[in-house]
Amino acid sequence: MQKDRKLIIAGNWKMNKTVAEALDLVGGLRRELASVKEVDLVVCPPFTALGEVSKAILDSNVRLGAQNMSEHSGGAYTGEVSAMMLKEFSVRYVILGHSERRQYYGESNALISRKALAAHAATLKPILCIGETLAEREAGQTEAVLESQLRGSLAGLSKEHMEETVLAYEPVWAIGTGKTATTEQAQSAHAFVRHVVASMFDETIAKYVRIQYGGSVKPSNARELMSQPDVDGALVGGASLEVRSFTDIVKNSI
Ligand code: PEP
Repeated sequence: MQKDRKLIIAGNWKMNKTVAEALDLVGGLRRELASVKEVDLVVCPPFTALGEVSKAILDSNVRLGAQNMSEHSGGAYTGEVSAMMLKEFSVRYVILGHSERRQYYGESNALISRKALAAHAATLKPILCIGETLAEREAGQTEAVLESQLRGSLAGLSKEHMEETVLAYEPVWAIGTGKTATTEQAQSAHAFVRHVVASMFDETIAKYVRIQYGGSVKPSNARELMSQPDVDGALVGGASLEVRSFTDIVKNSI
């Protein structure tokens, strides 16, 4: 289905793949997806593989993303990695506010907005994640949660920043569980997210911002999800770890 917004499909490899395994995977993707022009393709390996993967995708249609970064530009922050350090490896995108970061590392909306501002200062494009838990959905709070995450984690961003920001709607109950949101649930959440973006920025920004769906995306459900009017791509976890499944998701989305 042809949309005004170019689809963007990103693989979040999480804490998987040694350098050798990462090169194997990205080599396969580069080969299998060489002819794809309709979709922006992004891989997000762990920090340790960024350098080698960066070299392996030179002159290809695959772009590099990181899974996290510090809100600081440098200094005494043991274990952290700055935006400029990512830029050294030609990283273009950075996943921010993934639910695993929010859940296991206590990342707040305020912290995520500081990270987003730091990413933009270094011309990295955030892939900024939001999504409700099962308890929140069952309590009828989905829209309230999404609105408060959007208002909190996009706080301080300008319209120009938003032009270089990708959003990812990832219902927490669908991540790594095999449970996918129905197309109706995904479309309704995406339309709501776009509506909030319009009220925070303006209609033009809302019209052009790309909103990925994430949560157990597989080759078998990609086509239906991507055909929803407000779904502009996917953030893929488990199924991005194999050449076949990621390739089939991309091909089924076109
Ligand atoms: C994710 O972690 O962003 C994700 C969507 O994971 P999975 O595809 O495995 O559900």
